[in-house]
Amino acid sequence: MIGASVGSFLNVAADRVPEGRSLIRPRSYCESCRRPLASIDMVPVLSYAWLRGKCRHCKAAIPFRTVLVESATGAIFLAVFLRYGFGVDFVVLSACLSLLVLVSLIDLEHGLILDKMVFPSIVLLLLLAPFWSDIGLARTFLGDETLIASLANSYLSGLGAFLAFLIIAMINPAGMGGGDVKFAAVLGLMVGFPGILMALWISVVGGGLIAVGLILARRKSRKDSIPFGPFMAMGAAVVLIAGPDIVNWYQDLASAISGT
Ligand SMILES: [Zn+2]
Repeated sequence: MIGASVGSFLNVAADRVPEGRSLIRPRSYCESCRRPLASIDMVPVLSYAWLRGKCRHCKAAIPFRTVLVESATGAIFLAVFLRYGFGVDFVVLSACLSLLVLVSLIDLEHGLILDKMVFPSIVLLLLLAPFWSDIGLARTFLGDETLIASLANSYLSGLGAFLAFLIIAMINPAGMGGGDVKFAAVLGLMVGFPGILMALWISVVGGGLIAVGLILARRKSRKDSIPFGPFMAMGAAVVLIAGPDIVNWYQDLASAISGT
């Protein structure tokens, strides 16, 4: 329920942040008839079902994205809760994952990763980094870390991801935007090393598969560009929620195959 409510807010933010409008005022309203929504019409997921996806007044269709983002964010928060329980980890991880959802939404609809989201995120993550090894993959690989080690891990991962994407963008300016380069720094800071490698691997494989699927389905041609930000976000989200589990699974599999 917390996640679905945050998802409801992310929907509003995805519409308003790119246009520089206030997140608080005016209250949510119908995009069609401009009448403000009553509280009863703003219950995540349930209102959409109750109103059968239509505005109470003018019967205009409520964008399906609304209920999709609400239920997806609810599912993400539930996954974090099941994996990490309720505490500081839950709050920090949920905040990071909410940011990933918002960046993905805006990139999908506008093809932009906004500086006004990237730069504050970088500052916040630089401040959070000392505590970060408690959450990401660093713990799985490095055991109990010192403050300095986890700081270095996060900062170097952010810098490394930034430089790697900068080089790719300089070699192929048409394929990779400046927003992707800065977003890579955010993800490096967020998941640390070696999580960032797993995150980027997932995003490249996932992005490639979806791109091939879209071309085969003739929804896109080879000349169209597909925003890469959502795939980067997806890779980081998988690592944040399930990274240590994937590593354990892989190690068990490897030792089962080698028969030890
Ligand atoms: Zn309406």
